[in-house]
Amino acid sequence: MTRTERTRVAIVGAGPAGLLLSHLLHREGIDSVVLDERDRDQIETTVRAGILEQGTVEVLDATGASERALREGHRHEGIELRFGGEGHRIDFERLVGRGVYLYPQHEVLKDLIARRLADGGDVRFGHRAISARDAENPVVEVETPDGERYELVADAVVGADGSRSVVRTLVTGSQTGGYFREYPFAWFGILCEAPPSAPELIYSASPRGFALVSQRSETVQRLYLQCDPELDPDSMSEAEIWDELQARVAGTTLHEGPIFQRDVLRFRSFVAHRLLNGNALLVGDAAHTVPPTGAKGLNLAVADVLLVADALIEFATTGSRAGLDAYPAAASHRIWRAQHFSWWMTSMLHAAPDETEFDLHRQMGELESVTASEHGSAYLAEAYTGWPLARL
Ligand SMILES: Cc1cc2nc3c(=O)[nH]c(=O)nc-3n(C[C@H](O)[C@H](O)[C@H](O)COP(=O)(O)OP(=O)(O)OC[C@H]3O[C@@H](n4cnc5c(N)ncnc54)[C@H](O)[C@@H]3O)c2cc1C
Repeated sequence: MTRTERTRVAIVGAGPAGLLLSHLLHREGIDSVVLDERDRDQIETTVRAGILEQGTVEVLDATGASERALREGHRHEGIELRFGGEGHRIDFERLVGRGVYLYPQHEVLKDLIARRLADGGDVRFGHRAISARDAENPVVEVETPDGERYELVADAVVGADGSRSVVRTLVTGSQTGGYFREYPFAWFGILCEAPPSAPELIYSASPRGFALVSQRSETVQRLYLQCDPELDPDSMSEAEIWDELQARVAGTTLHEGPIFQRDVLRFRSFVAHRLLNGNALLVGDAAHTVPPTGAKGLNLAVADVLLVADALIEFATTGSRAGLDAYPAAASHRIWRAQHFSWWMTSMLHAAPDETEFDLHRQMGELESVTASEHGSAYLAEAYTGWPLARL
């Protein structure tokens, strides 16, 4: 060890959770250090989430974390569920008076990083947390891009370090300490140069498997195919990909264009057994992971952060642990509702590899129940657009 540094709150991970937390603490005069093993360019260019709940956008806007999300994000007031060759619109605005915003995660990250740096925030790119120890008096062991090591001592440590969290071991006792479910399928995602094929997202269930038609910008589309988790993303030609997508969204004509990115995304559900141990906490994907079907991961991270920011502000200004101790129970309601919703959307829309004729007909019955019923549609609309947030 060459040196020891001190801060009030050590935040591992400069994803949406870690950066937003650092920003909210700064607004109340509380210092933090944010560590991320990736460099700034990698963070700002990795394509992940696209759909933000209305509440998430309102938080980003109201706290000054992003001035662009509300202004430049595309408001979507519904989605289409497509099955049996027909589309059925779930009209969010009419059903629950709310919407969602298409505003890519890497744009949120650009906004958050710019805000933190403009405010003099201590965000250390390329600094990897090797381990975290002593939950009562947290110490994070850090490695710099040059291979130098130092210790960061803090009043509290927050694991905002994603699904392979290092801080999770300090909180739960093991890296895998949680409730876990793996799905027998994955998404093959592509980015292509073509204008949007539809104004809103199309979730399409077909006997060939699920497909999602989504958008990124006026010139780029994001589309997904349900696939085997072991699929090699380079094994399909562009023509095969378009044929398969087209077959799965029968009744819609897709705008085709050159494919410039391919990835396979495995489906997992996870909730850590504990979210708090002493002064060590977990937020965002470090605390829980959902399959992307319900577009909940980033939104859930923001909901956690609102609770943890208030708890840490109370702890720093009054010494009270009340908010910290209440955090796991307060967060878990939303976490499990989001877990259920993500699992439900996934199982309703995907074809399991061992699916029987019975399962297929049952699935159609479920989709009809949701789309033909005002109450069924309203449940989907309410969950998709997001439940009320603590601060709003
Ligand atoms: C294809 C796809 C589509 C998605 N669509 C949506 C959507 O539409 N809506 C939605 O809400 N969510 C969506 N999600 C989920 C969303 O992307 C995640 O839930 C979100 O990124 C979680 O944010 P986070 O800050 O908790 O973690 P992350 O974004 O994973 O950030 C964690 C950070 O920690 C850093 N890190 C990890 N380990 C260390 C270490 N040891 N030391 C230092 N740094 C470390 C990483 O480099 C990373 O920058 C999607 C995800 C995928 C993959």
